Amino acid sequence: MNQACLSAISPPELEKPAASSRSLRIPSDLSAFQVLCDFDGTITKTDVTDAILEAFALPAFREWQCRWERGEITSRECMARQVELIRADRATLIQFSADLPIDEGIVTLNQQCAERGIPLMIVSDGLDLIIEAVLRRRGLSHIPVISNRLVWNGNGLPSLSFPSASPDCWIGAGTCKCAVAASGGFSLKETVYIGDGRSDRCISTVAQQVFAKGKLREWCDLQGVACEPFETLTDVTERLFR
Ligand SMILES: [Mg+2]
Ligand SMILES: [Zn+2]
Repeated sequence: MNQACLSAISPPELEKPAASSRSLRIPSDLSAFQVLCDFDGTITKTDVTDAILEAFALPAFREWQCRWERGEITSRECMARQVELIRADRATLIQFSADLPIDEGIVTLNQQCAERGIPLMIVSDGLDLIIEAVLRRRGLSHIPVISNRLVWNGNGLPSLSFPSASPDCWIGAGTCKCAVAASGGFSLKETVYIGDGRSDRCISTVAQQVFAKGKLREWCDLQGVACEPFETLTDVTERLFR
């Protein structure tokens, strides 16, 4: 969700975390770590959720965007309202998204993690249907995905559910990535995170190591949150496993 909103004064700052004092280092024993990776804009080269809204949603989706950017609603509510405005069926959305360009570095990252027994998981505030379509097309369906869930109601209209939301999430995300990171067999101190956007903010303040690009990197710099800037997932893989 990153389109310009002309009427927005400035993006809301819901609550700023304390400046991070984590010492940033590549974990020397990666076998004790999990690697979590964002999807939209990190594995795909563009934000697929945005592209879907642009292509298939009624124009009113922009009004919800503006309300969110003004801080009037959470990103979770914004997405729920926007998704209800999509006028396309499953097959159309799958066809639209499956061939979108991805960062091919995800293939190597996945291989390197698998060889070392390091769990790699995609944690996304986007749409499960789209993520699964892209992964299937690329032969990467075995990578576990935690995300929002897109379903069609009896009336044929889409709606979004949030199985991994957290009431404590200070960014109001649909999928609270820090809650997800701490819910498996690993702690946040044993988590490497890779992301690019707003939904990555909560986890970026608490994960042991954060690779950031785009808006996330800008935000981390502004907030004093320690991060490793990156351009591609090939980049990240080399730095994790050199
Ligand atoms: Mg993203
Ligand atoms: Zn959160």
